[in-house]
Amino acid sequence: MKLRSLFTVCPPLLLLVSTGHAAVSTGNAFYGDAPDATHPWAIHDRNRPQPQRVEPGTASTATQPGRPPSDAIVLFDGTSATLGKWEADTKAGDPTAPTKWIVKDGALECVPKSGQIRSKELFADCQLHVEWAAPTNVQGDSQGRGNSGVFLMGMIEVQVLDNYNNPTYADGFAGSLYGIAPPLANALRAPGEFQAYDIIFRRPVHRDGKVIDPGYVTVFCNGVLLQDHTPIEGPGGHMKRSVSTPFPEQGPLKLQDHGNPVRFRNIWYRPLPPRQMEGALSPEATAAKRKEIAATLRADAATLAAGSTAAMLRFAESLCYELDAATAAQVAKMAASYVASVKALAGADLENKKGEITNVTKAFQYLAKFSLVPKDFAATATLEQIAKAQGWDQPPGKQNAKKKQ
Ligand code: MG
Repeated sequence: MKLRSLFTVCPPLLLLVSTGHAAVSTGNAFYGDAPDATHPWAIHDRNRPQPQRVEPGTASTATQPGRPPSDAIVLFDGTSATLGKWEADTKAGDPTAPTKWIVKDGALECVPKSGQIRSKELFADCQLHVEWAAPTNVQGDSQGRGNSGVFLMGMIEVQVLDNYNNPTYADGFAGSLYGIAPPLANALRAPGEFQAYDIIFRRPVHRDGKVIDPGYVTVFCNGVLLQDHTPIEGPGGHMKRSVSTPFPEQGPLKLQDHGNPVRFRNIWYRPLPPRQMEGALSPEATAAKRKEIAATLRADAATLAAGSTAAMLRFAESLCYELDAATAAQVAKMAASYVASVKALAGADLENKKGEITNVTKAFQYLAKFSLVPKDFAATATLEQIAKAQGWDQPPGKQNAKKKQ
């Protein structure tokens, strides 16, 4: 959107709709293409919620973990207190038990043979940040060197492995979806240095035995893309080809004990919104959302001065979301009243209303364009005739000349 054009085209309308009440909206109504069957919002819709403010964090360095963004849920921040957010990954039905992993020099360190751990927090779709370091003392090779793992929902492993100078099978490489997809690159730092994984995870969604959405994993390692929205074929695993499997609604984050004292730090996640909120919705969800927006706008209109131009336009705006017959009739009635009041004006009184009348006319023209009022909406035709008689339809330099004719 060209902001300048928005202000130059309709400044009085902006003022009209933005003063004196708790409007959720900013900008101009009756502007971009209207909502449709699968999009509850207009193009450039001023009623669309503003993005939530998040204070960004800071990047980590080799020696210092960064700060998470303001809305992150921290699972480990280097303190013993956050060790309490983890427990031993006991079998289902068994009593819970504290983890035997230890906090050392600000890192959560795997104690080999103590078993993998899980977060007490359960979650699903997320942006996840995990930093890890393989032991400085390099031992073993292939899958035996600096092996751990980040198990999303406890179900699918993003491999943690010291592959700095250590070939192994590609689908078991650091940053692989283990047993499913190799990483696109090897962007590891040397063993002993911390590596940063940034992961975007969308869980598989099954319904009535069918795959609705396979789920996807995106992984960056030290800022380098390793997994590019990789579909989840299944939970992966050792030696067996994966098949698509329903995931639960939520699950813990698990960290693997593969027998190596791998260290972790700066673990946090941000839950992601439901997928259907992005882009187009189903016709049913769109209709429900449009109905909700229309109701909000009608309620807002009711708080404005009865019979005012602002109230009329607010009710008219609601028609963009729900073509409610009663509201349409109310708008038609208010429009007729508005036109009568304009027709009663003359001379300077009429000229002083030019901006408002022009914008009301544009609003009615917009509604007609999207069939939200009849194409031959009487109020529009009358206002257009008045504008023509006043010369308002002429380029600015010729308006006075037209009036004198
Ligand atoms: Mg592993």
